[in-house]
Amino acid sequence: MNDFEKLRRQMVETQIITRGISDKKVIDAMLKIPREKFIEKKFYNETYNDHPLPIEEGQTISQPYIVALMTELLNLTGDEKVLEIGTGSGYQTAILAEIVKEVYSVERYSILFNKARKTLGELGYKNIFLFNLDGTEGLKEHSPFDRIIVTAASDKIPQPLVEQLKENGKLIIPIGDRFSQNLIVADKIKGKLEIKNYGGVTFVTLIGKYGVSE
Ligand code: SAH
Repeated sequence: MNDFEKLRRQMVETQIITRGISDKKVIDAMLKIPREKFIEKKFYNETYNDHPLPIEEGQTISQPYIVALMTELLNLTGDEKVLEIGTGSGYQTAILAEIVKEVYSVERYSILFNKARKTLGELGYKNIFLFNLDGTEGLKEHSPFDRIIVTAASDKIPQPLVEQLKENGKLIIPIGDRFSQNLIVADKIKGKLEIKNYGGVTFVTLIGKYGVSE
């Protein structure tokens, strides 16, 4: 076992399992994905620490626990087609791709898009489809989706995402202002969203046509 593997196991035990994450699919994916591949070299020694880390363009790779929590809240069976808005480093994308059938992920910054494409390509994923676009518009041509995960914060749920979510589908998004948000899970039932609040989080801003203006 190399040092990263040891740290990864420790991370899963002390940050994920002890905080109540119990979905085996999520735990197995967190144990498997080499988070160090998604981290800039200068932060290598912090790869498995209990906090987010800077990536390019002033963005962040989420704290491991938040990735695990959001993935668990999606309540995945493994058959799903998932839309992710905010590819960033691609770490959450890889976690999802381990569990579900297909992941469509959208990133607005081309530097991040290209880097994630390289990283995820090197890891050999065939069920990930990346797009360099404004994700607040969703991906109409590939819709509808069983699940939608937004990894950047907005003051509202982008309407195109509601339309592109399947009936009985689930959408997760941090909703609030620039400084603090609540993690919201929305179930689409008979065409309407039923909202649950999973408490305070801090994410970078979802910038785009149906998100927050620049
Ligand atoms: N899941 C990522 C989180 C990255 S931070 C990870 O763990 O690495 C959120 C990302 O959302 C940033 O990369 C940011 O550029 C992106 N983002 C913000 N607004 C967006 C939009 N409208 N469309 C696509 N991506 C967006």
